[in-house]
Amino acid sequence: MPNPDYTGRFAPSPTGELHFGSLVAAMGSYLQARSRQGTWLIRIEDIDPPREVPGSAKIILSELGRLGMRADRPVLYQSTRMDAYNGACLALVEKGLAYACRCSRKVLRTDGTYPGHCRKLALDPAEVPQIRFRASDESIDFEDTVMGMNSQNLARAVGDFVIRRADGMPAYQLAVVVDDAHQEITEVVRGADLLDSTPRQIALQRALGLPTPGYCHLPLAVAADGSKLSKRAGTDPIGNARPETAISMALDFLGHTPPEGLNLDAIWFWAISHWDSDRIPRRRRLPAPVDVLPG
Ligand code: GLU
Ligand code: ZN
Repeated sequence: MPNPDYTGRFAPSPTGELHFGSLVAAMGSYLQARSRQGTWLIRIEDIDPPREVPGSAKIILSELGRLGMRADRPVLYQSTRMDAYNGACLALVEKGLAYACRCSRKVLRTDGTYPGHCRKLALDPAEVPQIRFRASDESIDFEDTVMGMNSQNLARAVGDFVIRRADGMPAYQLAVVVDDAHQEITEVVRGADLLDSTPRQIALQRALGLPTPGYCHLPLAVAADGSKLSKRAGTDPIGNARPETAISMALDFLGHTPPEGLNLDAIWFWAISHWDSDRIPRRRRLPAPVDVLPG
């Protein structure tokens, strides 16, 4: 019987192949779940057709399988969940917590926040696709497993944010909240590039009456000199690297160095039995150019 108190997930967007950064996120979520005998799920976040790369969902799933990570339930595709996202948006409008907005990006302030033109217009969400959530002027605090205490004033930091886009598609912030609740996720493990999104997601959970899971943000790779990596570095596919090599490098990146010479099963056995989230570093250098991972 799996531990009913822990459910984690890996939620890639099908915008390309699995790369080192997404391998780290997959592995971190997998090991947090497996080391607790919990459940581990995969969700494909395919709700952004303009950014989608055809075929990449299939490649990501087969890569995860080749590397030894298999989900405990069928994969959930967000493209099958449009009714749930629309329902949540309309419920928020109904409650006065969100509103339809016909403004384009041009009206945004230089800091990217929305000045609120449509806040009081009560436009009809059946006619105006874009919907914004009202950001309240209060600080949202949460304790992250790796990154510690975080707090953000939503109104000041992001302002009223989009939950349904002008093209009618749900925004990431809304869909992720609806599905983390739907899949009964108890802890969200993902890359620290999404640390800043977490307060928006907590605000949406509160507004929708959904539970707030735990959060565990994994370090992002920085270049050997400590600077942020270029867009290309770290986003190179794992390609045909040996599974043992890719897995060992990602483990090492997360503060766990397995003994050398183990086969894939033995590395996973070692990792699951030695996994300790206290050892995950907040900042980490990329071990070697990942585009030259030995094949
Ligand atoms: N789909 C998002 C991404 O690939 C991650 C969502 C999440 O883990 O919350 O960047
Ligand atoms: Zn507007």
